[in-house]
Amino acid sequence: MRLVLLGPPGAGKGTQAQILVNTYSIPQLSTGDMLRAAIAAKTPLGLEAKAIVDRGDLVSDDIVSGIISDRMDQPDCKNGFILDGFPRTIAQAEALDGMLTSKGLTLDAVVEIKANPDVLVERIINRAKESGGARADDNEEVLRKRLDVYTQQTAPLVSYYADTGLLKSVDGMASVDEVTASIKAAIE
Ligand code: ADP
Repeated sequence: MRLVLLGPPGAGKGTQAQILVNTYSIPQLSTGDMLRAAIAAKTPLGLEAKAIVDRGDLVSDDIVSGIISDRMDQPDCKNGFILDGFPRTIAQAEALDGMLTSKGLTLDAVVEIKANPDVLVERIINRAKESGGARADDNEEVLRKRLDVYTQQTAPLVSYYADTGLLKSVDGMASVDEVTASIKAAIE
């Protein structure tokens, strides 16, 4: 199973990805997690990405596309994967199409987790409090920037994938279990 999870910051992509990892025994490929790991380890990529991620902007399409393409070649991806946070721009979606074609793979579904922006701000501010500020970009100002970036650069992917017939939309405002059930119903 090869899935893409699409949705604004705080919609629950990471939470649902974790659940689907266990259900389908395929890994979650989160560009956000990979970038945070690179930043924490102070790798050359991390040093380059830190300021961009901290202000809520997007890292370059070429960098994230390269990381994802390499990650897909790891043995644990042989039965599929869940893309979380990639693609985030039309250019990344096109890069994804190209890398899948060259690897002889196809996507099974793109799941859009729909959410109300007002609730997202609240959810993320709470997440920041609960995690003791673990993410430098989980503060109100940067979050509003991330929501703007989503609307401008990522939301166009909804119609991109609707046109391919792969898009499934679920209501992300329901409980975690209900959202999981809708995703499973949509993809099975
Ligand atoms: P969220 O979905 O909560 O905004 P992520 O963990 O997916 O958070 O991403 C955090 C940050 O990492 C983004 O704001 C961006 O700076 C960077 N990032 C993650 N994925 C991508 C991507 N596909 N393209 C460019 N930048 C990315």
